[in-house]
Amino acid sequence: MVKTVIPLNELRNPLAIPPARATRPEGALADTRGRTLRDLRISVTDRCNFRCVYCMPREVFDADYPYLPHDEVLTFEEIVRIAKAFREAGGIEKVRLTGGEPLLRRDIERLVGLLREALPGVDLTLTTNGSALKAKARSLKAAGLDRITVSLDSLDDATFRAMNDVDFPVAKVLEAIDSAASAGLAPVKVNMVVKRGVNDHQVVDLARHFRNSGHVVRYIEYMDVGSTNGWRMDDVIPSAEIVRRIHERFPLEPVGPLYAGEVAKRWRYADGAGEIGVISSVTHAFCGTCTRARISTDGQVYTCLFAQRGYDLKALVRGGVPDDALADAIRGIWQQRTDRYSEIRTAETARERKVEMSFIGG
Ligand code: SAM
Repeated sequence: MVKTVIPLNELRNPLAIPPARATRPEGALADTRGRTLRDLRISVTDRCNFRCVYCMPREVFDADYPYLPHDEVLTFEEIVRIAKAFREAGGIEKVRLTGGEPLLRRDIERLVGLLREALPGVDLTLTTNGSALKAKARSLKAAGLDRITVSLDSLDDATFRAMNDVDFPVAKVLEAIDSAASAGLAPVKVNMVVKRGVNDHQVVDLARHFRNSGHVVRYIEYMDVGSTNGWRMDDVIPSAEIVRRIHERFPLEPVGPLYAGEVAKRWRYADGAGEIGVISSVTHAFCGTCTRARISTDGQVYTCLFAQRGYDLKALVRGGVPDDALADAIRGIWQQRTDRYSEIRTAETARERKVEMSFIGG
């Protein structure tokens, strides 16, 4: 891949925060398409110890890459304040910590504990590559984490090492999944990004391995996030094909969603061995039911994974904004939301410069 220098400052140039319109006290906060605000994803670091070829390719994320300086990264207290303001503004039901690799953030358990205390009743989850999970599973659970998602793109060690591009062995991630389950973070969700010709030969193997384990494999279509992964439609294995391949070996039947707007389409094994999910971000856009907002590592709000610019909440927080005005800013941002990138994706839009997933939070 040709090395690209990405003008981050341009992408990080924030949008003006629109004023909030009054919502009826009993009315839910909704955007221009009537979509409510339900999930908040928080990127706690833009750094990762893996160099997954489809996410943080080493040609781009090398020693010269301009990661955020320490003082631009939200502190735990700032993250908690913003998360509380989101709840105040829109009734967030679920918070996911992500990155970058969230377990690289020092004392991440302290953040989990602070969020647990500040947001009782919220489903508190975290997505990790699993490399540091074995050592942290118990402390994360004790701090109040409800569930965990572990990324695992192959069971074949050579393929896995080539995809993470830091020679990390698959056995350690499998051990981490076991540790998470014994720590009480079950059922573990196992995310596999499927890229044609790279790991698609592993689709059925992962299904076979995790059948009867209680864990749920979720197959994700390879997406054109960011600007560095050289995405092409030809690399995508449509989720219909993934389901067909698994169904041929282990018959599947569809299961209804657990809640409105659930991203993964669920399928269960006809023989009762558990279930899988498929996330068809490319072939079946789910923008119409998207209830997700994202906070980048430096405190900007993005209302779409494929956004080019965000809204700078950190500036408000560090400028001393009162709590009610912070919640109002979030209402204003959500009320004017129009995003529907996956519905209008073309080869041209795929080439547009977008914020990297490691920065915005996967
Ligand atoms: N480091 C953590 C991890 O590995 O899970 C959290 C961050 S990572 C960006 C979150 C998820 O995004 C991972 O499951 C990863 O596989 C997925 N992801 C990254 N780039 C992707 C792409 N181009 N298409 C689909 N999923 C992608």
